[in-house]
Amino acid sequence: MHIGFIGLGNMGAPMAHNLLKAGHQLSVFDLNAAAVESLVGAGALPVDSPTAIAQGNAELIITMLPAAVHVKSVYLGEKGLIASSREGVMLIDCSTIDPHSAREVAKAAAEHGNPMLDAPVSGGTGGAAAGTLTFMVGGSDADFDRAQPILAVMGKNIVHCGAAGNGQVAKVANNMLLGISMIGVAEAMALGVALGMDAKTLAGVINTSSGRCWSSDTYNPFPGVLENVPAARGYSGGFGSDLMLKDLGLATEAAKQVRQPVILGALAQQLYQSFSAQGHGGLDFSAIINQYRKDT
Ligand code: NAD
Repeated sequence: MHIGFIGLGNMGAPMAHNLLKAGHQLSVFDLNAAAVESLVGAGALPVDSPTAIAQGNAELIITMLPAAVHVKSVYLGEKGLIASSREGVMLIDCSTIDPHSAREVAKAAAEHGNPMLDAPVSGGTGGAAAGTLTFMVGGSDADFDRAQPILAVMGKNIVHCGAAGNGQVAKVANNMLLGISMIGVAEAMALGVALGMDAKTLAGVINTSSGRCWSSDTYNPFPGVLENVPAARGYSGGFGSDLMLKDLGLATEAAKQVRQPVILGALAQQLYQSFSAQGHGGLDFSAIINQYRKDT
C-alpha cells in the first residue's frame, strides 16, 4: 500500500521504518530535514509538505506529531491534510492529544469524506522499534477493520476503544493512573526504607500483597530492586517525566471539560510540574521517588 507518513521523531521514525520493512511504499514529511533523510535512506520518498502528501497517491496517511497544536495545524485549514485529500483517503493520527481536539479533527475529516481514526500508542520508543506498540483506537467499526492490518505492522495489541476520540480517552485515563500509581509506589517505598526496611524485601512483600501494581512489580522506582529498569541506570531512558507531565495535563484538561473531578490526577500533575521546574523533566518518570528520599 502507498502510505503517507508525517512526523518522523522518536516514535514516528521507527514506526515508518517498520512499514517500509513490511513492503509498503512510503511518502514522508517532517519539518526536520535530517529526520526525512534517515527515512529516504531506507527507501521512502521525500515530500515537501502535508499538502503534497495529500495530493499524492497515498491511500492512507498517518501522523505522529508532538501535541494538539501541531495536529490541528497539519490537518485543518485551507492547505491542511483534510482540505487537500481525495475523498475516501483514510487518516490516522497516532499523536497523544486531548480527546476534544481529536473529535474536532475527526468531525472535519468526516465532513470532507475522509474516514479518520485516533490511534495513540503506548510502549515507548522500544516498542516502536520492535513493532510491539499498543494502539488505542477511536473510530467506526468499519474504519477500524480497514486500518487493523496496517497498525498490526507497527504494534502487537490493537484495541478498538469505541467512537472517535475514545482512543485518546483510553490513553489519558491509563496514563493518569500510571502517574498516580508511580507516585504511590514511590511514597510507600520511601516510607518503608526510612523506617528501616530493606527496599528489595519491602518490594517483595508489596508484590505478593494487595499493594502490587505495574509500577511496583515491573518498573519499581527504588534503585536496586529490579535490573533493567531506569532506576537501575540513574533514571536515564524510559518515559520522560516531561512526557508524563504532558499526559497528566491532557487528563486534567479533559476532565475539566466534563466537570469530572480528578483529585489525585491533579495532585500528580503538580508533583511532576514541580519536579520538572527543578530541572528533572528529562529523567524517567520513576525518578519522582527522589522527591521522597532523604538521601537524594
Ligand atoms: P518527537 O518530538 O520526537 O517527534 C515529533 C516530530 O514531529 C518531530 O520530528 C517534529 O519535527 C515533527 N513535527 C512537528 N510539527 C510538525 C509539522 N507541523 N509538520 C511535520 N512534522 C512536524 O515526539 P515523539 O517522542 O515521537 O512523540 C510523538 C507523539 O507520540 C507525542 O504526541 C507523544 O506524546 C506520543 N508518545 C510518545 C512516546 C515516547 O516514549 N516518546 C510514547 C507514547 C506516545
